[in-house]
Amino acid sequence: MIRKLKYPRYLNIKEEAFDRRIEKAYKLLSSCEVCPHKCRVNRLKGERGFCRSSEEVMISSYNTHFGEEPPLVGNFGSGTIFFTNCNLKCIYCQNYPISQLGNGNKVTLQELAKIMLALQKRKCHNINLVTPTHFVPQILKSLKLAIKMGLCIPLVYNTSGYDSVNTLKLLDSVVDIYLPDARYADNEIARKYSSAPNYFKIMKKSLKEMYRQVGDLAVDKTGVARSGLIVRHLVLPGGLSGTKKIMHFITREISPHTYISLMAQYFPAYQADQFPPLSRRIDKKEYREALQAFKEEGLENGWFQKDI
Ligand code: SF4
Repeated sequence: MIRKLKYPRYLNIKEEAFDRRIEKAYKLLSSCEVCPHKCRVNRLKGERGFCRSSEEVMISSYNTHFGEEPPLVGNFGSGTIFFTNCNLKCIYCQNYPISQLGNGNKVTLQELAKIMLALQKRKCHNINLVTPTHFVPQILKSLKLAIKMGLCIPLVYNTSGYDSVNTLKLLDSVVDIYLPDARYADNEIARKYSSAPNYFKIMKKSLKEMYRQVGDLAVDKTGVARSGLIVRHLVLPGGLSGTKKIMHFITREISPHTYISLMAQYFPAYQADQFPPLSRRIDKKEYREALQAFKEEGLENGWFQKDI
């Protein structure tokens, strides 16, 4: 007999299996290997590594958000939760007060679960976990509490793409929608501007694992995302984001049907003034070239900016 799977997919995980995942995830915190930095600090004892986060979860805000890609927003918005700190240090980060300066408040796992429920009550189509990588174990534990309280909308894992495959495997059958950045195609550029060694290599592995879990984007009859992968690519000035190489990778090694959000909104924030060409916005020609690379590589699906 074929068993009909429940949706969102986390509703299919039995309690004991969920507990085993949480246990595995918390083990990663004791000599931290949650992300590719592998700092090996004991976050359970309050130690902090590159991401400056201990065991305690911090968030800066949660809200109904209408600025995400259309299938995430639908009619009622995406329920974003912004986690404090980050496992990248982008010198141009537009959210630097949250990601680099640590703005935010501590929340207990029970409070985090209640926030998920509050977003569901507002009719948000999904729970959009923004910069969740360094808090995956805690999110899993909190999710279990939220499911007990009645959570039944899908999770969006909204990440820089600098994730460890081992940690992503703990999210298999938990996350329905992956929303990673594909930020750089050059490891040295990534190291210089985001302190992310081997970014291209790591991002490629992460995206392949995400795609293995959820496949191409699938939407319901109203156009709202049910599952799948959406890749964000922020076009940086001076060709620093390596658009052509990234589009090539996505077509050849992920899927030519991948939905890409080709973003033109870069502006020099935080320390970007000191790092030309990141000290300026992109121009029309640069965005046109990025769009051309997208088309030349045979990609068809996505969202583009018209008024640059
Ligand atoms: S999650 Fe934080 S402490 Fe753990 S390995 Fe990554 S940067 Fe280091």
